[in-house]
Amino acid sequence: MLLAVTLSALAMTMIVGVRYLLVSGAFAAATRLRHPGLYRGLDAQMRREIAWSLASAAIYGIPAGVLAWGWQAHGWTRVYRDVHAYPLWYWPVSILLYLVLHDTWFYWTHRWMHRPAVFKAAHAVHHASRPPTAWAAMAFHPIEALTGAVAIPLLVLAIPIHVAALGFVLATMTVMGVTNHMGWEVFPRFMWRGPLGGWLITASHHQRHHEQYGCNYGLYFRFWDRLCGTDRGVGDFARSHARAKAQAQQPAGGARRLAAGGGAGARRGADRAA
Ligand SMILES: [Zn+2]
Ligand SMILES: [Zn+2]
Repeated sequence: MLLAVTLSALAMTMIVGVRYLLVSGAFAAATRLRHPGLYRGLDAQMRREIAWSLASAAIYGIPAGVLAWGWQAHGWTRVYRDVHAYPLWYWPVSILLYLVLHDTWFYWTHRWMHRPAVFKAAHAVHHASRPPTAWAAMAFHPIEALTGAVAIPLLVLAIPIHVAALGFVLATMTVMGVTNHMGWEVFPRFMWRGPLGGWLITASHHQRHHEQYGCNYGLYFRFWDRLCGTDRGVGDFARSHARAKAQAQQPAGGARRLAAGGGAGARRGADRAA
């Protein structure tokens, strides 16, 4: 039994790690095509982002692996395979329920991690990325990774969901985690501007969190931010894209100097966070 649990945890860690490398890698490649020079000078930061993210993969993978084993061997979890076990209308409802509850969990734990002591001990790792890249999606200190890793396992123990609907939730989580950090908008304008954009979170919203800290804490929806007065609207990428363009036209040394100029901004941001 111990062997089966260990193997399941290892397999899940591998899956989470490879999923991260593939999805972040794909969006990083798309960034190179779409905005050449956007990540110029950030090589050391990206290496750090990848290292923290792979460590986080184990922290996410272990509880997921134990639960996957428990589901198979003992029927733990409310994940179901028979499409007719619940009415069809429950499909979208379960997906929305998972996203809303995960978002709620994320908003409040994220706000908690911006308390000065917790920020210093844990969340500063994530904010060390200035500006974040597509590789920063799982760049978390182990304490932060742990708060993220328990969310979906707790939900699958409590709320019924079809296995494919759960796959959809996990895919949404992965894609939004990456795209929110990659420094440009991949989604159509109506998703981040206008009536619908007023309630959804994409890169423009999370970018402002990384710029200004004490605002825009949400994950998928702006509901909690708006309710609690922490929503400061969406940022835009005009400045960073103009800088990338300028860097792309400079020799490598100049790009490094420009990137070093961003360091002062990082220090200012850290002061504000504290
Ligand atoms: Zn934060
Ligand atoms: Zn972030």
